[in-house]
Amino acid sequence: MANDTERSSESLDEHVPSTDEEWRRRLTPEQYAVARQGGTERAFTGAYWDTKQPGIYRCVGCGAELFRSDEKYDSGTGWPSFWTTIHDDRVTKVVDRHLGMSRTEVRCARCGSHLGHVFDDGPRPTGERYCINSAVLDLTPGESG
Ligand code: FE
Repeated sequence: MANDTERSSESLDEHVPSTDEEWRRRLTPEQYAVARQGGTERAFTGAYWDTKQPGIYRCVGCGAELFRSDEKYDSGTGWPSFWTTIHDDRVTKVVDRHLGMSRTEVRCARCGSHLGHVFDDGPRPTGERYCINSAVLDLTPGESG
């Protein structure tokens, strides 16, 4: 999968789209609906909910490294779930009061794309559960996730 790795690395050097038109060109309609419109893919339908392959999960919008396979776990929810991020500064958290619930939305710190939500019912050691849409992730396979 050397080509995938190359492409993902290159994407880090790409500029972040600044217009809606540019985002629509870069992303598939499904990716756009989640990343730019805050949508949620249906549980158990995404590419990575059950993936155990080692590697690094990058943002589909900008290529930023967000999550590691080593910190992914089976939450039973049908969405890729992680108990931490690669680094705190890779995501921003925003209080989301949509649908009358107070939740913490997670966005890519680099490009602002909506990723999912973080909840406080995750496993040790953090107790956090990053519930992330497959649609906004791009797995770069590797030995050390
Ligand atoms: Fe991003």
